[in-house]
Amino acid sequence: MDVGNESTSENARSAEPARENSREPTGGTRLADAFSKLDDVAPAGREEFARRVRYENRLVQARLGIAASLFTALRAKHPPTAAHSLRVAMGVSCWAIARRMDEDRLDQIEIAALLHDVGKIGVPDRVLLKPGKLSSDERLTIEQHRQVGVQILLSCCASQEILDIVKYTPAWYNGDKTGFDRTGEDLPLGARMVAIVDAYDAMTTDHVYRRAMPKERALAELYAFAGRQFDPTLVEEFSDLMTREQIDLHRLLAQRWLADLQSSQSNRFWSLGFGAESIGGDEETDRLFYLSILDNIHDGVVFIDSDLQIQLWNRPAERLTGLVAGAVVRRHWTPALVQMRDESNSPIEAEECPVRLCLETGEQSLRRLVLQGREGDPVSVDVHFIPVIDNEGRHHGVTMVLHDTSHQVSLEQRLEALQHQVTRDPLTQVANRAEFDRMLAQFVQTHLRRQLPCSLIICDLDHFKRINDTYGHQAGDDVLISFASMLRRFARTGDFVARYGGEEFVVLCADCTCDAAARRAEELRADLERTPQPALRGEPLTASFGVTQLQAGDTPETMLRRADRALLQAKDSGRNMVVQLGTGDIETEEARQTILNRWRQWFQPNRSQEVARCRLVTCVPLTIAAKKLMGFIADHNAEILLFEENQAVLRIQGSSSPALRRQGDRGSALDIGLQFSEIQEHENAPRQTEIDVLVRSVRSRDRRRKNVRERARLLVSSLKSYLMATEAL
Ligand code: GH3
Ligand code: MG
Ligand code: MG
Repeated sequence: MDVGNESTSENARSAEPARENSREPTGGTRLADAFSKLDDVAPAGREEFARRVRYENRLVQARLGIAASLFTALRAKHPPTAAHSLRVAMGVSCWAIARRMDEDRLDQIEIAALLHDVGKIGVPDRVLLKPGKLSSDERLTIEQHRQVGVQILLSCCASQEILDIVKYTPAWYNGDKTGFDRTGEDLPLGARMVAIVDAYDAMTTDHVYRRAMPKERALAELYAFAGRQFDPTLVEEFSDLMTREQIDLHRLLAQRWLADLQSSQSNRFWSLGFGAESIGGDEETDRLFYLSILDNIHDGVVFIDSDLQIQLWNRPAERLTGLVAGAVVRRHWTPALVQMRDESNSPIEAEECPVRLCLETGEQSLRRLVLQGREGDPVSVDVHFIPVIDNEGRHHGVTMVLHDTSHQVSLEQRLEALQHQVTRDPLTQVANRAEFDRMLAQFVQTHLRRQLPCSLIICDLDHFKRINDTYGHQAGDDVLISFASMLRRFARTGDFVARYGGEEFVVLCADCTCDAAARRAEELRADLERTPQPALRGEPLTASFGVTQLQAGDTPETMLRRADRALLQAKDSGRNMVVQLGTGDIETEEARQTILNRWRQWFQPNRSQEVARCRLVTCVPLTIAAKKLMGFIADHNAEILLFEENQAVLRIQGSSSPALRRQGDRGSALDIGLQFSEIQEHENAPRQTEIDVLVRSVRSRDRRRKNVRERARLLVSSLKSYLMATEAL
């Protein structure tokens, strides 16, 4: 395919402005149709069309000076090509302004763009206007029009640079197209730029056999041919420009074409003198020029006066809405005219119309709205409402700039897909760990602020390693997928499910107390236990659950640690169970006693997890010893599992940061149980405190590991220093 070139005119995606525009129903043909269909147009509309042609003439004269007659000849031959050329010139000018090209180059490139298709003057009408498929001879004739253009220009253009741009615009960057003696960077920069804008304009204009492509698709086509037909760096630059806000550029463009260009200066490029109407600097001329510019930019522009009467409706606004200026100019503005809707798709009523608000307050606003497009389909637009106020502070009306965002919306959809990729676990499609960390912080913050309950469930599949070993890794994966989807079904609105790692999942339960979350976890546990797993030849599997509720003063880390601790207790107590910790489980004295009893049992001999046991004695009373113990707890970042009566159980993690915690680190976590008793040998003797110390590894299999025993020894000696204790004999 040759984008923007006639040689492959059968190809639906090729762009051939001249021939195709001769048949196109909207956009570029409006000017041409204006003459043929004058009778169909209301008198106000007819006047408007005629005026537009006059503005266009003046605009072209400013740029081309005496050579404006060439453009006039082109329009006489084929108006759509002239309209296309003007759009390309404006587009390339905008781009050149953005890349801060020097004045001389800017002049050359604009003139060359205006005249790049001037050779169409030499194409016979039978070919140019032929509605059907072209024969190969006819295609060759079209192809040759560029050379005809260069010939025409040679006879009057004094600038070699302009001639070169016109000559090399059809050349391919990689030299694939024959008939050109330059390739790549040797092609004039102007030619490489015009080639891109030319193709882009052709692709984004309606044709009989192919509707105008959305901007995004046209840009994708340019990318597809970058490095072959087009300069790849320039394609990137142009695409970047087209996706950027262009209001400032349009302002500069308008300033340049309306105020800065002088036809007398433009004359320096032309060596033959033939009379041209000079352009006056009067107000009417300015107005006409501005209107021309407005018709040639991409955004719709509508001006509504202070009586809410529409005074201006530019061509892009026609293209966007399907409403022609002739039908709406001088009509009363109401949002219903374009079926304006807000983002939630509710119609905008006349009283709340941003145009009215802008008139009343004199303040500008920018809103994303939906309009009815020309096909009757909804079109997403960013609408800028700008009050028009003169130096004396008088309000004249509102300018509405309509920027079609359909392509941005699909860009947003793409971003969403990308977002999905980075926040999801690819295997189970629930959120991943990073996303969970982000959500947990948010949950904690909002629930603490709103003082609403919120709970966290951590679940870990039991003996999963064994499942992998017995049924294979693939079966393990299937089980993970099935468990994740069970969790998704289990989640309520506002809940959040994530895979924390390996075979461990988390559920954040919004507005849910610990008791309620524990009941829900219990249902889930029982359900899982009953569900045959196809991947395990119909065998069920079980999981252990830790549940906790957000407490005052919690950080995401403390909440997570507590839930994790509950999970470990569930594992330690035999798996396939739910353990809850934190608010909600010490509500009654009875429950409190149950827990105390459970901890008392903790001190019973249990050789399987015991790493060290000793008795210490310190010559301070119990109250002081307890204070000193606090220092030990703080400095070792120990968790207090229990601090009741004269007992304490502390947990010291292998890695104290939950962020660094990995499955394998768990083995090195140690629990230290302390039982205090105050002793006084006789009435006048000082009070001393005896402390029974028991160190247990959280995982029984770690008990014999040398480094675990060594850590236990170090912890006990640290404890001795804090408590100023010695070992009792
Ligand atoms: P416990 O009941 O104490 O939790 O025992 P377990 O075997 O489930 O726990 P352990 O942490 O020792 O083993 C977890 C296993 O999970 C080890 C690892 O091979 C497996 N695993 C982790 N991620 C995946 C995965 O994506 N797919 C599969 N198939 N297995 C995984
Ligand atoms: Mg497990
Ligand atoms: Mg695990």
